[in-house]
Amino acid sequence: MNVIESYVNGQRVVLGERRGPVFNPSSGEQSAEVALASQADVRRVVEQAAEAQKAWRKTGLVKRQAVFFRIRQLLDERKRELAEIITAEHGKAVDDAVGEVLRGLEVVDFCSSLMHHLKGEFAEQVATGVDVTQIRQPLGVVAGITPFNFPAMVPLWMISTAIAAGNAVVLKPSERDPSALLWIAELFAEAGVPEGVLNVVNGDKEAVDALLDDPDVKAVSFVGSTPIAKYIYSRAAENGKRVQAFGGAKNHMVVMPDADLDMAADAAVSAAYGSCGERCMAISVAVAVGDIADDLVAKIAERIPGLKIGDGFKDGNEIGPLITKDALERVSGYVAGAEGEGATVVVDGREKEFAEKGFFIGASLVDHVKPGMKVYDDEIFGPVLSVVRVDSYDEAVELINASRYANGTAVFTRDGKTARSFQFDIEVGMVGINVPIPVPVGAFSFGGWKDSLFGDTHMYGMEGFNFYTRRKVVSTRWPEPSESQIELGFPRH
Ligand code: NAD
Repeated sequence: MNVIESYVNGQRVVLGERRGPVFNPSSGEQSAEVALASQADVRRVVEQAAEAQKAWRKTGLVKRQAVFFRIRQLLDERKRELAEIITAEHGKAVDDAVGEVLRGLEVVDFCSSLMHHLKGEFAEQVATGVDVTQIRQPLGVVAGITPFNFPAMVPLWMISTAIAAGNAVVLKPSERDPSALLWIAELFAEAGVPEGVLNVVNGDKEAVDALLDDPDVKAVSFVGSTPIAKYIYSRAAENGKRVQAFGGAKNHMVVMPDADLDMAADAAVSAAYGSCGERCMAISVAVAVGDIADDLVAKIAERIPGLKIGDGFKDGNEIGPLITKDALERVSGYVAGAEGEGATVVVDGREKEFAEKGFFIGASLVDHVKPGMKVYDDEIFGPVLSVVRVDSYDEAVELINASRYANGTAVFTRDGKTARSFQFDIEVGMVGINVPIPVPVGAFSFGGWKDSLFGDTHMYGMEGFNFYTRRKVVSTRWPEPSESQIELGFPRH
């Protein structure tokens, strides 16, 4: 069986004695095993990265920018190759995987202007003869820990910004689909990122804990489920590290009575079932306001049979399988339990039959869902859309603001005042007005609130550069020796 290695100091190497299985989710068969790095391996990688970082931070910004332009070029030229690697281990349709790469590429684009983003601040004559400069310096070695659902995009967000800012990175991707990042690391090397600046450590909890405890790891970016995000946040913070830990989600889409219902149904179907519901920005709850619920449910239900679900490599398929057999059982369990909780299963995805033997399930639509039901409260992370019926806009806002998750949300309306109120009232990090999946473009930043993000900086954009740099403020004056005197009071300007 093919063994998936790590990538350290410019080379693929097997780290660790233990192995984890990697599946082709479309066939349901194991395709490889990934070697899982030990604590001692991680220590060595971090040490080497710390050495490499010393030289990288001295590399001129013009040279660093040129490297990023090359990364951009190569990634754009070869995006389909990368997309196919993603599909082989994740299962999503190749076209969807190309979309993932492009959303990662946006952040590479932003980083290509790194000189602009790293420019400091300067104020002349803050006091007589005194100037102040604020400069941004890299942190050193930073760690990333990423989830299975975007094996290229999320790592690209982290590594691009961290490396552009002058850090070295040790990134541990999901052990379920680790190959995409190895390919990316080799592409970064080809573009001119020096050996040791980008390292990929494959592993599980042992490798993660080693990164969280390593004294030379200065910052940790995590993306994954909420319980693990909380754990990462507290353990890394306890060890004195800068940390941002992105967690799970339960994203609501409000459909107002004045919305165009066909447009809203198209959006709900796309956002709920795309990538088999395995997106942290997927819509998992449609909130039908007023008397439109029956029509909205009917319009969503009539679109479901047209979804093309199957092997992501086959032309025409839009949605692939779930990631693992466990995920299939878990998602099926929520649909199975919904009736018993008092909800109505309008479309049962478990009934859909597939020629392939992999971890496939059809799209499900569950109506009359309420808080307190597991199908509402839990993040299902599969193609299950719940419909909650409410009487008013205020009730919709109250429902969303009471959720522990606050990653993304959307409102569908033709009324500007309602949209403006929603933007103002809603306690969620990313908001779409007639946009069902409001993932911001690379020049802005990405991040939720509440249990969807522990930490205070978002991913990428200037927030990313803030996370991956520390500010140093230099006060300067050049007085004449004759002006010198002892001043024991606290310095005043
Ligand atoms: P996960 O939390 O199971 O795993 C994420 C990473 O944490 C992996 O690299 C994994 O190896 C590691 N990990 C898992 N258990 C660990 C443990 N006990 N100790 C230390 N490390 C551990 O998440 P997943 O199933 O890979 O991804 C899906 C989840 O990620 C969903 O909850 C989804 O909402 C979330 N997600 C969030 C965002 C966001 O931006 N908020 C983006 C993508 C995915």
